[in-house]
Amino acid sequence: MAKAAVFLDRDDTLIENIPYLGDPSQVRLLPGAAEACQRLRQAGFPLLVVSNQSGVGRGLISKDQVRAVDQKMEILLGGSGTITRYYHCYAAPGDPYDERRKPSPAMLQEGARDFGLDLARCVLVGNRLSDIQAGIRAGCSSVLLDLHVPPQEKSGAVREASFVAKDWTSAADWILRKTKT
Ligand SMILES: [Mg+2]
Repeated sequence: MAKAAVFLDRDDTLIENIPYLGDPSQVRLLPGAAEACQRLRQAGFPLLVVSNQSGVGRGLISKDQVRAVDQKMEILLGGSGTITRYYHCYAAPGDPYDERRKPSPAMLQEGARDFGLDLARCVLVGNRLSDIQAGIRAGCSSVLLDLHVPPQEKSGAVREASFVAKDWTSAADWILRKTKT
């Protein structure tokens, strides 16, 4: 049977969103994120980060800075190796190369190719409507982590999500319950 994986949005899902963050010393995990990631890893899920980082395309931060922030986050999440792979779209909206930006399912499809995943058994966790839509378009289940959902996107995201989690514990509980069956 093809594998399942969990796709994770980064900003305002795993870490506090600071727009165009390039300084690893400012990385702050959201409550419960580390424990949830450890539970999902122990259950055998690859954890694949899928993140729009348009600050690179806008010339505000470098790819190396994005990588430094990712590495700091991963240490806080439980150590190197907690995240299996990172997929970033660096393009700014409207760039000729922005077609991989969420809500495009492109980064999830790349993960499926790289790891031989059955997308129907995969789950995406995110905080924005574009995350939920990327998951749906890829054929995954989508969990809306209701910690920092932009108010103007909330009703649409709640309507389209497979599950709305009030916190990380509830998101991990749902994923582990769902994938058991
Ligand atoms: Mg986000």
